[in-house]
Formats: sequence, C-alpha cells, structure tokens
Amino acid sequence: MVKITFLGGCREVGRSGVLIESKNQEKCIIDYGIRFRGKERLPLDFDYNNLKAVALTHCHIDHSGALPFIFKNNSVPFFTNAVSLEITEILIRDMIRISNYAYPFGLKDLNKMMQYTRFLENGVRQKIGKDFYISFINAGHIPGSVSILIEVDNKIILYTGDINNQITNLVNPTSSSFIPEIDALITESTYVLRNHPGREDLEKNFAEKIIDITENDGKVLIPAFGVARSQEALLILQKYGYKGKIFIDGLARKISTLLLNFPESLKNIKMYRKALNNAQFLSRKGRNIAKRSNGVIIAPSGMLRGGPSKFFVESILNDPKSAIYLIGYQVEGSPGRSLLDKGIIEFKEKFRRGYMEAFKIEAKCDYDYFDFSSHADGAHIRQYIEDLRFRDGSNFIFCIHGDKEATTTLANEMAKKSYSSVAPEIGEVYKI
Ligand SMILES: [Zn+2]
Ligand SMILES: [Zn+2]
Repeated sequence: MVKITFLGGCREVGRSGVLIESKNQEKCIIDYGIRFRGKERLPLDFDYNNLKAVALTHCHIDHSGALPFIFKNNSVPFFTNAVSLEITEILIRDMIRISNYAYPFGLKDLNKMMQYTRFLENGVRQKIGKDFYISFINAGHIPGSVSILIEVDNKIILYTGDINNQITNLVNPTSSSFIPEIDALITESTYVLRNHPGREDLEKNFAEKIIDITENDGKVLIPAFGVARSQEALLILQKYGYKGKIFIDGLARKISTLLLNFPESLKNIKMYRKALNNAQFLSRKGRNIAKRSNGVIIAPSGMLRGGPSKFFVESILNDPKSAIYLIGYQVEGSPGRSLLDKGIIEFKEKFRRGYMEAFKIEAKCDYDYFDFSSHADGAHIRQYIEDLRFRDGSNFIFCIHGDKEATTTLANEMAKKSYSSVAPEIGEVYKI
C-alpha cells in the first residue's frame, strides 16, 4: 500500500503540498508552497522521520514558498532543475523581504535548501528509496515547470503540478499522451469551470489595440507577474510586429534576463532574444522618461496590488488616450478586479518610497482583460485526463489546486465516468 497525504492545496489555490509514503515508510514530499491570506499560510507539518527526498514542480510561490521550512530540521536531497531553482530563490527572498507575515523560516533555511539541491533532467528516472523513483515531465506551464511521475512499490502516480497543454509563445505545451500507464493521478483543477477564449484572436486583438493606442499618442500599462506572463506579453508584441517602445520594470527585468541562460526551458530562444532586445529595462530615473513617452510599460504586480506598476497607474488612469490591459487572473478584492468590474481603482493605503498617496480614481483610460493564462482551461484539462492511460484495475483521480467548486465538479464528473475520484480535504490520507 502506498499512502498519499494531502498537506495543502485542497479545495484552494495555494500552499500545495503532497506527502507520498511507501510501505517501508520511506517518504517523499512534492511541492511545499504558501498561500497569501489567512492565518495558516503553510501546508500541514508532517513527521519527517524517513524523509528521503523533496521535489518541486515549479518556482511559483504557491508550490515553492514554504520549502525552506522543511530544510530547517532536515538534510535531504531537493530535486528540481536549474531555472526553477534560480527563480525560486529570487521569489522566496522577495517574499521574506516584503512580507508582514512572520514565516517560521528564514534565509538561513533557504540557503540550506540550496545546498541540498540536486538537478534532475526531464525524463531521467531518479531513485530516492527502496523501490521508490521520481521523474520529471515538461508541464508546459512556465519555464522549468514539470509534472512528476512517482514510481513506488509497483504503483505509478502522476502529480501534474500546474499544467498547460495549450499553445503559448514562451514554452512548449505538455501532453499526456506520452506518459506511461499510471495507477493514480493527482491533478490541478484551477480552470475546470472556465474555457479560455481562442488564443490567436485574443493575441491579435491585444496587439492591434496596443499598436493603435501607442500610434495615437497614448501609453499602455500591462501589469504583469514578473515570471512568464511579462515575457509572454513581450513575445506577443514581437509576433505582431509592434514597433514602438517597450519598457520593462521591476522583477520582470531580472527574470527576463535570467531566462536567457536557460534556452532549453523556452520554446524559441531566438525569438525570445529578439523580443528582449527590443525592450528597455527601466531604472528609477527611467520611469519618468517612460511616463512621458508613448509606448508599452510591462510592470508587476499583475493585479495592481503593488510593485512598480503603482508608479504609472495614476497618470494612465487619468489619460483618455492611454490604456491598462490586464493579462492575468484578477482575484476578488484586488485593484485590478475593481478596475474591470467597476472602472475604479482605489488604493486605501499610502505606499512607501513616495510612489503615491491613497486615492480613488475613476478610469478615463481604456481598460480590458486578456486571458493569456498559463493553465489548461476546462476543455483542455478534460482532454489531458482523457488522453491518459490507467493500468488495469487502477483508476484513482485526486483533484486539487482549484477552489471548492472547481475541484469537486471535476471529481464528481470523473466519478461518473467510473474513476475513483475525489477532491481531497486538507489532512486526508488515501491508500492506493
Ligand atoms: Zn504555477
Ligand atoms: Zn499553482
């Protein structure tokens, strides 16, 4: 019997963490992330006895953020790849630096985690215990992202992590048709209830609108998460022949440059290099120049909650010739969501470093949402599962990494198709 314990990411997006235990009680942890809200930010703690390995699907904080906590009292190999490690380090350092929340770990533990890192290439079968192996498969979500195949006591478990099997410009999509037969699937469910609009039309419309605005004396602010989304926007502008100025600010600068060192993690390094060559990185001084020029400003944060996008947002909101185009999911209660729903942006707090005072502004500029998601949507996640092959007599599906409605909808749907399917709750243990 193999034991699977769900430590987090159950009926929610955030603090992903799964513990897999063999019949000899050897253990492997897959992902150990954080969530940004509430009192409980970390996945559940667990008995570290006989922990053999920790493995990471990708750098996003909801998967990686709490990893240093494990290394506080443990010295076990940490399996990831070079691009994920570098970005994870940047994101966790940033998280610790800016957070008001007292995380029960610090930079010392992060450094220890770095020391215990072992790089694992996709497709290589890595022994981690007696009859216990892991291997990585491209997940198509962001650069470096992988799904993890766990072979333990003659059972094969696929943990998808965050996946995308749709075409994007930055990374190659995943596909489940090359995955060997499995006994159990642990799948993300983020967008089970939504289908993304046709990508090509969306990209074209996005680029055309931007070209039109910048040729008519306006600027476009693209608030974007520094990892992947910013670079995807850059590639779309390149693809549709945008010739104007592009400014990149904040964390997106560092990540954009870093990715040049990992061509194998990108779909087309030549195209990427070209796109990046056409962009200018903003220094603090440069921000005033960008404010006065027509062009595109790509700046985190993606939901206008903070980051350098704050520096530009007020002047753009007041300019009918300009626009704010959001390209990532806007959580309820975020300034980005308020812009889309009500046409108003309200910052209640005064920001540090003199960016701006608290304000409430009705948008005079154009604003819109372009759904350039890096997750499979409802139709594609179902396709992914359909293309998977299960071993005779095995049919376990665990639906995680989605809200309650998404995870339970997918689980019920799969149960009707005669899978043993559930949306586990936090702390639940299953034996397969
Ligand atoms: Zn992710
Ligand atoms: Zn995630």
